[in-house]
Amino acid sequence: MTTLTAFAMDTYMTVSVRGIDSFEAAKAAGELIEEYDSLFSVSGSGSDIAAINSAAGEPVNISSETLRQITASIEVSGRSGGAFDITVEPLADAWGFSGGSEYRIPSDLEISQLLDKVDYSRIQISGNTLSIPDDMKISLGATAKGYTSDALVALFGSYRVDGAVISLGGNVQTFGTKKDGSEWIIAIQDPNDPERYTGTVSVSETAVVTSGNYQRYFESGGKRYGHIIDPATGYPVQNGLLSATVICHSGLLSDCLSTALFVLGEEGAKSYYETYGGFDMILITSDGRIIVTSGIAGSYTQEKNSPYILEVF
Ligand code: ADP
Ligand code: MG
Repeated sequence: MTTLTAFAMDTYMTVSVRGIDSFEAAKAAGELIEEYDSLFSVSGSGSDIAAINSAAGEPVNISSETLRQITASIEVSGRSGGAFDITVEPLADAWGFSGGSEYRIPSDLEISQLLDKVDYSRIQISGNTLSIPDDMKISLGATAKGYTSDALVALFGSYRVDGAVISLGGNVQTFGTKKDGSEWIIAIQDPNDPERYTGTVSVSETAVVTSGNYQRYFESGGKRYGHIIDPATGYPVQNGLLSATVICHSGLLSDCLSTALFVLGEEGAKSYYETYGGFDMILITSDGRIIVTSGIAGSYTQEKNSPYILEVF
């Protein structure tokens, strides 16, 4: 077993690898994480995103890795009625959630002006070039970790690796099996007390990705402002959900969906699930419920002293 730890994409990462090639595979994983950290970052000379955002409306050649994330994002944007939108970056920046800027509450006028710059349908793709209008900006904050964990799974497939757990901030993805062949046990954090967990899911090879407003947020006047922005209002999401976890085979899709469902709220997430399916989800609400979809209800074990009431959907 080899364990790699890294700080990249603004978060702590741990990758544990088991198998004859575990050392080489973990080393290669570290190199890939570093490469993707620069490629998908909102700043820096090696970044596709920085190139797009500073191109003043001109088309930019981008890597297939970036293109895949943007194509998947646009699809989820359409399906979620714009709740998921990677062009929300100017607003994320105004609230202080992007890079070095200070946390602040923008004025209503500023928010309404910035909302004019948010519209995923104005991203133009032709072959491997992409352009956005001059005043717009994108960020892959909601997709890069999921894309990276998919890539690490693919990478481990080319080494003699028997099992691996990839944990990139709130994104977990598993590869292969545990040593004794049993399923992986993944903890679901308690958003009200992130040091604790409220239950566990037992899974085989899959991604388990959580979005919430309990990791990156600030408080002002007794209110919490988190880093996921509702593109309909320009404000941080405040809809009665504390977290949304998505479980599906694709890390990229799980990452897009966990953010999208968090923005959509309980009812919106349930109707998205009923319309599109293809994944399982765990929603935790501020009124003390944990909603688990039927596909994983049998794999979910609630902690004995969990403060939440379990509902199966
Ligand atoms: P985390 O980064 O905590 O794992 P997410 O995957 O949910 O969480 O991504 C949140 C990031 O996505 C934000 O930091 C921001 O860069 C970006 N973002 C914020 N709101 C939206 C949104 N409505 N749609 C797409 N991306 C968003
Ligand atoms: Mg996400």
